[in-house]
Amino acid sequence: MDTDSAPAAAHSAATPPDVEALIRDLPKVELHVHLEGSMPADTLFELARRHGVREVPESLDELRDWYLFTDFPHFVEVYLASVATLREEQDFALLTAAVAGNLAAQNVRYAELHVSLYAHLMRGVPARVVFDGIEEARRVAESEHGLQLRWIPDFPADFGLESAEATVEAVLRDAPPSVVGFGVGGVETPLEQYAGVFGRARAAGLASLPHAGEHGGPERVREALDALGAERIGHGIDAMRDEALVARLAEGRIPVDVSPTSNLCTRAVARLEEHPLPRMLEAGLLVTLNSDDPTMFGTDLLNEYRTAHRLGLGAADLVRLAANGVHAAYLGAARRHALLAEIAEVAARHGVDPAGTA
Ligand SMILES: [Zn+2]
Repeated sequence: MDTDSAPAAAHSAATPPDVEALIRDLPKVELHVHLEGSMPADTLFELARRHGVREVPESLDELRDWYLFTDFPHFVEVYLASVATLREEQDFALLTAAVAGNLAAQNVRYAELHVSLYAHLMRGVPARVVFDGIEEARRVAESEHGLQLRWIPDFPADFGLESAEATVEAVLRDAPPSVVGFGVGGVETPLEQYAGVFGRARAAGLASLPHAGEHGGPERVREALDALGAERIGHGIDAMRDEALVARLAEGRIPVDVSPTSNLCTRAVARLEEHPLPRMLEAGLLVTLNSDDPTMFGTDLLNEYRTAHRLGLGAADLVRLAANGVHAAYLGAARRHALLAEIAEVAARHGVDPAGTA
């Protein structure tokens, strides 16, 4: 991936070579990344031409500029135009293959990808088309790159109960075993109304993995825990405004998936230096590092590790973040232990005390 052309959010001093090498060598997992928000510009270009989607610029250079985050309304416009290019099984397979290639190139070994299932259902694309396409590419990614992919179908919180019900019904009917969780994203609204929907997903063995506390305040995080039985919190940075909630998350070892560049782009934090990631680690939270919508925010997981370093986190902290991701993932025990052992081995090779990876 061409990180030299990363946008304003990601610019600044180069990462020292030893830290850069550690970041690349660490086997990584990513737990909060949206399939549709990871669409590379050339994939979007190809799909838009395939289906004659007009909102998308006609040259790849123009499209690259158009694609980058400027403000939230533009982000939504781009997101919807990208989603509109996904119509047939092979479109989903093409996207997933491209995303898997980018993850594998960063030494990501395992990822749980959010799939905006309702955004496809509402356009009349059947869940089976989505699942068949992404599953085909998942199997290829596993055999070609040794990259394990798992899915978290979700719906937007601001679309109401009907969209939530349509999504959970499609999941319960058509989801393959590689679906590990059920999620809610979109614009944060009160979450209690979705208790029943998440109850159905959990009864079917799916993990409750909502977005909460990105912009919506600590109360959204509390609702996610109490009403939705959240097992991991997407973003969750607003929890830092509530000491009792932080203690609850820390004691319960409830992972919080943090995405600094995304938070900066969407103005969830005003300046990078104000990002609470270092304080979250100090407070004993099980924090994981993630890219959220990497191509749209001009980032990727490697860049999030560099960003964490710029926030003052040292090599041992970066190793800990990598290990936290493994602890927070819905991985089998054997793979979990193998990845943790490899992280410890890479840390030792780089002269970093691997304590905290066990
Ligand atoms: Zn997200």
